[in-house]
Amino acid sequence: MAAVEIDPGTGLKRFRTRAAKASDRIQGKGYSPVVNESLTTLPPPPSGAVFDAEEQARYREFKEARAGAADYISMEGEFSHYLEDVYSEGPVEREALTDECEILVVGAGFAGLLLWYKLQDAGFTDVRFCEKGGDVGGTWYWNRYPGIACDVESYSYLPLLEEMGYIPSMKFASGFEILEYCQSMAEKFGFYDRCLFHTTVEATSWDESRKRWRVETDRGDAMYTRFVILANGILTTPKLARIDGIEIFAGESFHTSRWDYDVDLAGKRIGIIGTGATAVQAIPELAKVASELLVFQRTPSSIDVRDQRETTDEERATWAKEEGWARARRERFAKISAGRTAMQANDDYLSGKIADFKERKQHSRKLSPEEMVQKQLDSNFRIMEQIRARVDAIVQDPVTAEALKPYYPYGCKRPTFHDEFLPTFNLPHVHLIDTAPRGVQAINREGVVHDGQTYPVDVLIFATGFQWMATSTFNMVQGKDGQSLREKWESEGTKTYLGLHSHGFPNLFIVTGPQGGGGSFNFTNAIEAHGDYVLWMLKTMRDQGATTVEVKKESEDEYAAHCRQADIVTRPLRDCISYYNGHGEAEPGSLAYYGGSQWHNFRIEAQSSLDVFDFDA
Ligand code: NAP
Repeated sequence: MAAVEIDPGTGLKRFRTRAAKASDRIQGKGYSPVVNESLTTLPPPPSGAVFDAEEQARYREFKEARAGAADYISMEGEFSHYLEDVYSEGPVEREALTDECEILVVGAGFAGLLLWYKLQDAGFTDVRFCEKGGDVGGTWYWNRYPGIACDVESYSYLPLLEEMGYIPSMKFASGFEILEYCQSMAEKFGFYDRCLFHTTVEATSWDESRKRWRVETDRGDAMYTRFVILANGILTTPKLARIDGIEIFAGESFHTSRWDYDVDLAGKRIGIIGTGATAVQAIPELAKVASELLVFQRTPSSIDVRDQRETTDEERATWAKEEGWARARRERFAKISAGRTAMQANDDYLSGKIADFKERKQHSRKLSPEEMVQKQLDSNFRIMEQIRARVDAIVQDPVTAEALKPYYPYGCKRPTFHDEFLPTFNLPHVHLIDTAPRGVQAINREGVVHDGQTYPVDVLIFATGFQWMATSTFNMVQGKDGQSLREKWESEGTKTYLGLHSHGFPNLFIVTGPQGGGGSFNFTNAIEAHGDYVLWMLKTMRDQGATTVEVKKESEDEYAAHCRQADIVTRPLRDCISYYNGHGEAEPGSLAYYGGSQWHNFRIEAQSSLDVFDFDA
């Protein structure tokens, strides 16, 4: 069958570009249920714990010692091999495309799949997707390290469960199960026909004379399209730490988002750099196969309980009879405003058995935003005390235990959850190398160098994370006046409306980009909100016969000022060195959205008056 052919029914192009799986060795599981209750419950908060001046000073010192230490390099030039797709066979040969479509979506992850479902449902069929990977899944395509699982409960996280007739096997499904689920969605909804895999968009520029976007890819395509939707994720581009000598290491090495299953880890001396959410899940699995495991840590994560379990027969039976069960559950999930409560995912509340997830404190008067932040800091402190007490309760060596304790506001860095991670450090062949506060600075041919000592390893794994919120800028989108989004934001500061539009960039939608609110602690809520918004706009334009839409400059100025202010008010909650705040250096309002439900107020106002838009300008 040809890679590109015409569908006789619709006259539209149909694609066969899904790549074959590279190897059957690529398989794994996520969290296992842990039965030991002492590992699945947090110790109570130590009595009398208050976030007083002494504790605040300790947090400050912890932060200041790390200021400026985060330094990364992108995987270009001699490091570009770290980006290779190790999960699929090479790209399917196909002709370069120079035709036109109505809607071009970048990305075939959750957002792309959900958009396709909504678009075709609304009668938009001339839709094309470009995806860098060889198959669907996005995050779940690239991240296949051992132990990978979702920390948002899968019953609320996986989109379209009712439409798929699917019930996840575990409360926190493994990444491998989620990837298979994405593939099933793509098959069921005819997504594969629409997608150009192994196709990276390299340039997107507005052609004012044609009122179309011209999209160029690394496969020689130069396509025109009326609309571009950027749905390519928030943590997409992996990064390496800047470490002297990184290029001369003689052993095997890879980044966690390109896990090389051809490297046999059994019996090897393995080093892993980084202890964020990825490493926390991978380390217990690595410890099961390595002869020796060296964990190079700069900053400890907060390790909360996971309490994994299998989906019960009772749940399966109940949900099979309950129409809209997952949608209702996701809506309840979206109402939870505290991160830890969301991640604990109380079944009684989420299933609708009880009306609320906690007893709410009644305040005698309405608190100011600053007072609310102070209250949150106090309760965050108590949670962190419990997290630190858990380290002492589990990790036997006191020096290792001390190094594993985080001192920053809960949620300032991405909280993590695991019931096997801390016990791993009691194993004789697992060693924590505390590189605080500056991190690993040097690597040589044999391994990692710290404090003048070389730690030889056979395999070195970089769990050093991803660029945050660069979704829109790395696509090199050039707007009406020839300026790129990156250039615009560098000169004026990040400016969008709802995170979805940017003035000067007509007919462009950015899904879950900077300043994009409307979500919750569940990413699926955000992509649903953004997908629904895009669909509303496309239908509005179809009804009005409008060709282009652009947000007005004054409207985005107002919205950007609001984002800045919301970030400033809540900043004390993120007073540590974290990618969330650009390692302490991002301009307020330039990254994630912190205005809570106010995003919806802006959205509703815009949708009801249409005042913020110029149609056919
Ligand atoms: P990350 O959170 O950015 O972690 C990078 C790690 O590398 C940090 O521990 C960092 O230390 C460390 N590091 C960087 N340079 C170093 C150096 N020179 N020496 C020593 N350590 C160094 O990346 P990630 O763990 O891949 O996670 C990224 C995000 O993906 C998560 O925050 C989460 O949003 C998502 N994720 C989700 C799940 C899930 O749902 N279960 C799982 C995995 C990932 P510092 O902290 O000191 O900078």
